[in-house]
Amino acid sequence: MAAPQFEVPKLADTANTEVPKVQEGSMSHIKAFVAGQAAQEYLGYPWELGEDWKERTLFKMGDLLKKYRSLRVYMDACVHCGACTDKCHYFLGTADPNNMPVARQELMRKVYRRYFTLPGKIAPWLVGAEDLTRETLDQWFNYYHQCSECRRCSVYCPYGIDTAEITMAGREILNYAGYGQKYSNEILGKVQKIGNNLGLPGPALEDTLAGLEEDIEADIGVPVKLPLDVKGAEILLVTPSADFFSEPHVESLIGYAKVFHAAGASWTLSSHASEAGNFGLFNGNYETMRRVAMRIRDAALELGVKRIIVGECGHAWRVAYSFWNTLTGIGFDGKDPFSIELQQQLDHRYPQPMHICEYTWDLIQQGRLQFDKSANDHRVITFHDSCNVARGSRMGDEPGGQFTIPRNIIKAVANNFHDMAAETIGEGTFCCGGGGGVLTDDLIEVRVKGALPRMNAYNAVAQENGVNFLALICAICKAQFTKVLPYYGFDMGQVGGVHQLVSTAIKLD
Ligand code: SF4
Ligand code: SF4
Repeated sequence: MAAPQFEVPKLADTANTEVPKVQEGSMSHIKAFVAGQAAQEYLGYPWELGEDWKERTLFKMGDLLKKYRSLRVYMDACVHCGACTDKCHYFLGTADPNNMPVARQELMRKVYRRYFTLPGKIAPWLVGAEDLTRETLDQWFNYYHQCSECRRCSVYCPYGIDTAEITMAGREILNYAGYGQKYSNEILGKVQKIGNNLGLPGPALEDTLAGLEEDIEADIGVPVKLPLDVKGAEILLVTPSADFFSEPHVESLIGYAKVFHAAGASWTLSSHASEAGNFGLFNGNYETMRRVAMRIRDAALELGVKRIIVGECGHAWRVAYSFWNTLTGIGFDGKDPFSIELQQQLDHRYPQPMHICEYTWDLIQQGRLQFDKSANDHRVITFHDSCNVARGSRMGDEPGGQFTIPRNIIKAVANNFHDMAAETIGEGTFCCGGGGGVLTDDLIEVRVKGALPRMNAYNAVAQENGVNFLALICAICKAQFTKVLPYYGFDMGQVGGVHQLVSTAIKLD
């Protein structure tokens, strides 16, 4: 690891991260790389700010305010109570006051007041309204890419104001004006053209899966399969493309395959829908999100599957759980023949879609999977709740299933488990620091500093309980922690998936 060009925060002696003394402008130098012509044009946006950037910005803002009542409510409802100020991991890690959720909102709210409220139009100085300037737009770009849209702040806001939605609107407006982010927009191009975020074409995927099958058989002597594009399979698994070759992600893919093998399931992956992730969510553009999700519907129809299961990916699960119906299902258009066909095709004895953890836990409860828990004895495990799963979705039949089911699986396959401090997990979980389109090396300083609250909580269980394994169910969390743990003195090998633990302990004939 090259020496960082910034000061890495010091770990605290306890799980709690102290509220820092404000350092005005400490992250104002941070700017994500700006998207180029190809990426912008592919998504239908201008690729640079033209002379009419101000008109375009205000037009789009007015458009979103009309379209999303929630956005207007969030603009109007804040009473500046301050309850959210110390809830953002980026503020706790950077001390920049613009990373306080209320201040992040205020970057847009002051423009909203000026152009969309009567008092702001006639007496802007009285109501904190400000003209839209080029400097404001730059601040939007900087600080709306220092928000991982994790929604932690909204949990503590008495009015439920969701800063993530404001960030999404900010990014959509910036894109429309011709000021997009390179990382997210290039990925959105790749997934739409090729089928996955990594740009891995079908033949390469086929080779990769064949190679993995050989490796698994050489390792355990059991011919576990990773089927691709099997028409008539019962289950379609859509998983983040990182699962196909990145470490430690691939270990979870092997875990899913072993579970399907043990259950005798008929399943397949799809080369057309070889990506569960959907960065359209991060950009706040419903149409882009729909186009990405449509590939999964197409694959499900083409293959004739009865069930759709989603692999370990936080925001993918949120999109699947909360948005698929209104993006591509009968919630979008009840008369659409393809939505109707898919509804008729799917087996409604099962949740549609289903999370891989729900699937595995269901089998464990039925006694259909056998484990040697001692195979995980070299690991002392803790679990990080991923934001989009924790605060944007659910699992199972009972409230809080998204928290209990992954932990139940871990306890079923391993002997040593310790939760991190209560205020840092569950609904109040701290973000890994790399979600929402922040997982790019041009934002490494934001990522490392934003990981501080989670690292303090992890360090506490490492010191007190000897924890040496951070179990995850999100591809972004895996990539982020693999990169960030070494900055805080931990080995990147301590990061892994819940199904990696399943894979280690499962007994196969
Ligand atoms: S990163 Fe999370 S806590 Fe911080 S402002 Fe954004 S949504 Fe709120
Ligand atoms: S907690 Fe809610 S109402 Fe209070 S300052 Fe933050 S956003 Fe505004």
